[in-house]
Amino acid sequence: MNILVINAGSSSLKYQLLNPETQQVLAKGLCERIGIDGKFTYKPADKEPIKAADVAMPTHSEAIQAVLNALVDPDRGVISSMKEIDAVGHRVVHGGEKFASSVLITDEVMEAIQECNPLAPLHNPANIIGIQACQSLMPGTPMVAVFDTAFHQTMPPVAYTYALPYEYYTEDKVRRYGFHGTSHKYVTQRAAAMLGRPIEQLKLISCHLGNGSSITAVDGGKSVDTSMGFTPLAGLPMGTRCGDIDAGILEYLMHKHGWDIDQTLNILNKKSGVLGISGVSSDFRDLEAAAPQGNQRAQLALDSFCYSVKKYIGSYAAAMGGVDAIIFTAGVGENGPETRADSVSGLEYMGVKLDPEKNKVRGQEVDVATDDSKVRILVIPTNEELMIAADTAAIVKG
Ligand code: AMP
Repeated sequence: MNILVINAGSSSLKYQLLNPETQQVLAKGLCERIGIDGKFTYKPADKEPIKAADVAMPTHSEAIQAVLNALVDPDRGVISSMKEIDAVGHRVVHGGEKFASSVLITDEVMEAIQECNPLAPLHNPANIIGIQACQSLMPGTPMVAVFDTAFHQTMPPVAYTYALPYEYYTEDKVRRYGFHGTSHKYVTQRAAAMLGRPIEQLKLISCHLGNGSSITAVDGGKSVDTSMGFTPLAGLPMGTRCGDIDAGILEYLMHKHGWDIDQTLNILNKKSGVLGISGVSSDFRDLEAAAPQGNQRAQLALDSFCYSVKKYIGSYAAAMGGVDAIIFTAGVGENGPETRADSVSGLEYMGVKLDPEKNKVRGQEVDVATDDSKVRILVIPTNEELMIAADTAAIVKG
C-alpha cells in the first residue's frame, strides 16, 4: 500500500511517498517558495534527484501537481500511474478537542478542522489548502488527517487546565493542547518494541529536542502531560522560542519599549530561546562550536536548555510515579550526545545512569544507559511521515 504524506505550510510543502508495511520510501521532497517563484526538490529512491528546480507554483495546486508529475514521470518516476497512490495522509497541526485520533477526511471533518483555525492561525489554514488542492487533483483517493495535537487528548484536566478564570476554557477553548504528538506517539511505540514490553506497562518520558522542542509524559501508551501548551511557544527554551516565561514580563517590556503585541510575539517566537540567550545561533551545532572557544553566552544557552530538560524529566517522573525509560529524539535529541549527557547528569539518584561510550551515537536506535541503570535511556530517530502513513493505512483499511 503506497501512502502519499503531505505536510503543507503557508509557502512550502513537504511530501513523501512510502509504503508503511515495508517502510520503504519511494520518493520524498519539498516544494518551496509557493506563491513566490517556486522551487521543487524531488528525491526518488535509486534515481536521479531534482534539487531546487524552478517550477512555477502560484498556489499549492501547482506544487502538488509538480509532485504527482514527478512521481509518475517515465524517467525519474517511482510509480506508473496515480492509481498506485492508495491514500493521502495530511499532517494537520491543530485538531482542538474534536480530534483525539486520526480521521478519514469528509466534508464534516473539513468543517471541524476549519473551526480549529483560530487555535492555529499560522498553520491550520495552510494545512486545509493542502488538503483541498489534493482533493481537486486526486478525486476518489481517500484522504486522512493526522493531527499534531491528537495524541495529547488523553491528558487529564489536572494537566491541561490553566489557572485562569474557568470560562476562558469553556468559552474560549484556552487549555494545554500540546504538539509534536505524531513524533511522541511514534517514538514511544518504538521504545516499547525496543524494550520488548507492552506499552500499557510502561512509564515513558519522550524528549523531542529539535528546533522546536517538547517533552511528554506517556503512561501506559497515553500522553498524560506535555510541555507545550495552548501554543507551541510554551515549555522548554527552543531554537528561537522562549518557552515558559513569567507573563508579567510582557507588560513590563511592552510598556518600557512601546511594543505592540505583534512585535512582542515576534521577539518571543523568533528572537528568543537559545538564539536569544547566546546571541550566536539557534543551531545547537553552532553553540557547541562557540562554547569551548570561551563564548560564555553560548555555554549559558546550552546549560539553560539542558537544565530545563532535566527539570521536566524530574517533574514528569513525579507526575507518573516513576519512569521506565527516557527517550531522546529529533535533531538535537538524536544527534547531540552532549545535550543528552548534560540533561540526565545528576539524575543517578533516580536510577538514571548514562553510559558515556554508548552515548557516542548519532541518529541510530540505541539504548545508551549503563547495563545496571534502572531507567533505560533510548535514542530513537523520529519518523513522523511513517507514523502518518501507518495511521492513514490503518484508517483506509478500516
Ligand atoms: P529538527 O527541528 O528536529 O530538524 O532539529 C534541528 C536542530 O537539530 C538544528 O537546529 C540543530 O540545532 C540540531 N542538530 C542537528 N544535527 C546536530 C548535531 N550533529 N549535533 C547537535 N545538534 C544537531
